[in-house]
Amino acid sequence: MTTSRGLAPNYIAGRWTTRGACGELPVTDPATGEALGSLPLSGAAEVARAVAAASAAFPEWRRTPVPERARVFFRLKALLDEHHDELAVRLSREHGKNVAETRGEIQRGIENVEHAAGMPTLMMGDTVEDIARGIDCKTVRQPLGVFAVVTPYNFPVMIPLWFWPCAVAAGNTVVLKPSEQDPLTHQRVVELAAQAGLPPGVLNVVHGRAEAVNALIDHPDVRGVSFVGSSRVAKIVYRRAGATGKRVQALGGAKNHMIALPDADPEMVAESVVGSVFGSAGQRCLAGSVIVGVGDAYEPVRERVLDGAASLKVGRGLDDGVDMGPVISGAHRDRVASFIDEGESDGARLLMDGRGLRVAGYPRGHWIGPTVFENVTPEMPLGREEVFGPVAGLARAPSLEAALEMLARSRYGNAASIFTASGRAAREFRYRAGISMIGVNVGVAAPMAFFPFGGTRHSFYGDLKAQGRDAVSFYTDQRVVISRW
Ligand code: NAD
Repeated sequence: MTTSRGLAPNYIAGRWTTRGACGELPVTDPATGEALGSLPLSGAAEVARAVAAASAAFPEWRRTPVPERARVFFRLKALLDEHHDELAVRLSREHGKNVAETRGEIQRGIENVEHAAGMPTLMMGDTVEDIARGIDCKTVRQPLGVFAVVTPYNFPVMIPLWFWPCAVAAGNTVVLKPSEQDPLTHQRVVELAAQAGLPPGVLNVVHGRAEAVNALIDHPDVRGVSFVGSSRVAKIVYRRAGATGKRVQALGGAKNHMIALPDADPEMVAESVVGSVFGSAGQRCLAGSVIVGVGDAYEPVRERVLDGAASLKVGRGLDDGVDMGPVISGAHRDRVASFIDEGESDGARLLMDGRGLRVAGYPRGHWIGPTVFENVTPEMPLGREEVFGPVAGLARAPSLEAALEMLARSRYGNAASIFTASGRAAREFRYRAGISMIGVNVGVAAPMAFFPFGGTRHSFYGDLKAQGRDAVSFYTDQRVVISRW
C-alpha cells in the first residue's frame, strides 16, 4: 500500500496510517536514482500504538484454532503465487537485483509461508504415560504474545517472511520494522496477507530507523525479538533485548570462504564462485568472499573466475540480459570502493577493478563492477571484514589444513563451501570448519524453510535460529503438564 503521493504508511490494527510520525524518508530506485516513494519516520509513540494493537489482538488470535490460523497461510501462499511476477518487478525496481533473482527471493519467501501453514503438526507436543505409577506427562506448545521483527535491506521480501508467518501461525502477534531502504514491496505482501484473512492487529508494520527499533526492544509488552542485519547492530539488539529478559535471535554479518581442492572440477568451482560472489551484487549474507585455492587448484580456478567475472553484464535489474544490478545506495557503493582502495594499499593484487563503472543510460545508478583481488590474507580488512559487494578475494593455501586454519581465524561463522571429489576431505571440512551453513560442491549453502538458517561466532547472537523447528521453538513456550487422576 502506498498513498497517491507515494507514501508507504505504517500498518496498525488493520489500518494504514502515518499518524504521529516525526518525518519522512525517501525510497529510491538504485539504478536510476528516481524517487519511488517515502515512508514515515516513526518514533516511540507509533511503536506504542502498534504494540498496543498487537497486544489487543493476541487473546482472540491465540484462541483461533490452529488449523484456521494455518488456512490464512494457505490462502496467502496462493495469492503470492498469483502475484509472483508483479512482486518480482516491484522488488527489482526498489532493490536493484535482476528479475530472476527477485523471483528466486519471492519463491524462498513463499516456502516460508508454506512452512507456517504446517503449524498444526509443527507445534505438537510430546506425551509419555506412566512417568511414575499412574502419572502421565505431556508438553504443550503455547504462543507467548507480541514479537518484534526487524529486518535488513538485502532480502526485503524473504527475510520478513522467515519470521512473521511462523510467529503468527503459532498464535502470536507481530510488529514488523522492515528496512528503511526498500520496504515498498513488502507493503504489498501485507496487503495480500489482509486479503488472505489475517485479522487486524495480528501483523503490524512500523517504518523507521534505530529509534523505532529501540522503542520496540524496550517495550515491556514485546516478548521477543527476531533481528537480521549487520553484526554491529545485531550485537546492540542482542544486548539491549537480553537486558530486558526478552527472547532474542539476532542474525548478523558474514565473511564466507570457498575452498577448492585440487581434485575439484575447476569449471564447477568457477561457476559456483561467480554465482556466489557476484549474485545480487554481493549483497547476500551467504555470498562467497574469500576464495581459497589449495595447491594446484589455484591457477585454473583463478583464470576461470576472471573469465566468468569479465562476462557479467552489469545494468538495471529490470533490463533484459542483466546479470548484476547496482548496489543499494551511493553510500554503500562508496563503502565497497573504500575496501578496494584499502585492499590495494594493503598489498593485495587487483586483477579486475569495478570502481568507477558507468552504465549507459543510467548516470545516477549506484554502480560497482565485478572486482577480483589475489594475494588476500586474513590480516587485511579485505580478507577479514564483510564487504557486502561484488568483490572476490583470491588466496592460496598449501593444504586443506592451512585453509581450515584461515577459516578458524575468521570472526564470522555464517557459511563456507568446499569443492572436492573426496568424501573424506568433505567430511573433514564439515567436521572441523566450525561454520553453520556448509556447502559441499555448492556455492550458496542456503537452507530451505524447513531447516535452520543462521550462523555462529559474530554472525549470530542467540540460540534458536530462523526457519525450521528452531523458529517454532523460538515462538512458543513448552509447558509441561504432569497429571494423576
Ligand atoms: P543494518 O544492520 O544496517 O540494518 C538492519 C536493521 O536494523 C534495519 O531495519 C535498520 O533500520 C536497523 N538498525 C540500523 N541501525 C540500528 C541501530 N543502531 N539500532 C537498532 N536498529 C538499527 O543491516 P543492512 O545494511 O540493512 O543489511 C545488511 C546486513 O545484514 C549485512 O551485514 C548482512 O550480512 C546482514 N544479513 C545477515 C543475514 C543472516 O542470515 N545472517 C541475512 C541477511 C542480511
